[in-house]
Amino acid sequence: MNAQVEMICRTGTAELQPSRLQRLGLWMRDHRPLIQRIQWAVILFYAVLVVLPAFLPLPDYEAHLWNNLTLFAQFLFWGIWWPFVLISMVLFGRLWCGVFCPEGALSEWASRHGKGRPIPRWLRWPGWPLLAFITTTVYGQMISVYQYPQAALLILGGSTLVAILVGYLFGRNQRVWCRYLCPVSGVFALLAKLSPLHFHANRQQWQAYRQQQQPLTSVQCPTFLPLRELDSASPCHMCGRCTQHREAIQLEARLPGSEIVTTSKQSANQWEFLLIVVGLLGVAVGAFHWSASPWFVQLKQMLAGLLISHDWLWPLEAHAPWWLMTFYPDQNDVFSLLDGAALLLYIGLTTLMSGAVIGLCLWLARFALSAPTQALYHLSHGLIPLAGAGVFLGLSALTASLLRAEQVPLFWVNDVRALLLAGATVWSLWLGWRIVGQYPSKGARYVAMLSYSAAVVWSVFVWWLLFFYW
Ligand code: SF4
Repeated sequence: MNAQVEMICRTGTAELQPSRLQRLGLWMRDHRPLIQRIQWAVILFYAVLVVLPAFLPLPDYEAHLWNNLTLFAQFLFWGIWWPFVLISMVLFGRLWCGVFCPEGALSEWASRHGKGRPIPRWLRWPGWPLLAFITTTVYGQMISVYQYPQAALLILGGSTLVAILVGYLFGRNQRVWCRYLCPVSGVFALLAKLSPLHFHANRQQWQAYRQQQQPLTSVQCPTFLPLRELDSASPCHMCGRCTQHREAIQLEARLPGSEIVTTSKQSANQWEFLLIVVGLLGVAVGAFHWSASPWFVQLKQMLAGLLISHDWLWPLEAHAPWWLMTFYPDQNDVFSLLDGAALLLYIGLTTLMSGAVIGLCLWLARFALSAPTQALYHLSHGLIPLAGAGVFLGLSALTASLLRAEQVPLFWVNDVRALLLAGATVWSLWLGWRIVGQYPSKGARYVAMLSYSAAVVWSVFVWWLLFFYW
């Protein structure tokens, strides 16, 4: 806070003490070898969790978290690791990416020793994170990635191999994979906008440094960001390497979500809009819903009835290999073609319905404000707290079911869920109010807010169905 005052100020006469955050940034910059050792430790841990269980027999009905590595890894990986990585984005920005992520670290390491080719144009296409998120989410459901270690190894191990390959081929000492292709980078970039921390470049300081004709040092940002304009926490991996660069860049505190109100007015784009409305509040909702949804059962029964009435029985019996659709006969868990088709259809219909309702509400809000299309993208950023909370709760449902199987008392879980959803709803409403206030159309502010609130109510409704109704 108050960076002007706390900035390490070298005007020739005064030298102010750095704040704690600035000292943390400096510490990160000066302790790269330690951070790299941490990264290798995480890589080792990740490899054990992802690779080993895939070669062990599947747990039987008597296995427990504490005596079966597969169950323990499943709990640690999907139940703790992933949900809390999402939380960490909101609390600390993308610190996870810059300091702990095994895939990012491996990709950067490969890039250090690789071919160093220029990044091709097709790879810079901004739609990759959205496409990769949707594909991995749907494919993950088709092969039951949360339940079976082979499926987890296929998706996560496959993604790690591609990350290494991309690092080896393109860029030098960079994270081309993280910047353009990682399936979760889009989601992380959205959640980091809520963070109270960010690396920020003070432009006056930058300018002053130039005018003092000081030596022009350079820093290689792994995600190759234009450091002079550094402000958003979205693309920054919080690695700390640029701390105090040109005496202008520092780790600073800010009001949580403030980036969404101000910076997003210019920076929000259609890909982020689609990731929120179609990806997080559409595809992800369908992916978490289907196993609990009575509508899914009805849909499947309807499709089965249709097939039987036409005497087409083979889709009810035919199945596919485990890497295409869930196939674990020993566990009595086999998807028929009908199951797979119903699953795809259910996720597709949920996405269509949810996307249409939220998109329409946001569009009406923009219309009421008589603002350009950019305002539509900006408004969608207000829903990030709800979208993030939903995905966190969806992931933590597995944590709860694994703990429940171990007889851990979880009477408090629904209260915590309700509290979290309520908090995210208030946050989204508050952000919406501030966003709407950014546009001059004063009289229409309440109409726009009403329409925006309808999008919020729908977003709460879809998660309420899953956790409190079904
Ligand atoms: S801007 Fe780049 S170098 Fe600076 S902290 Fe972020 S990722 Fe690291």
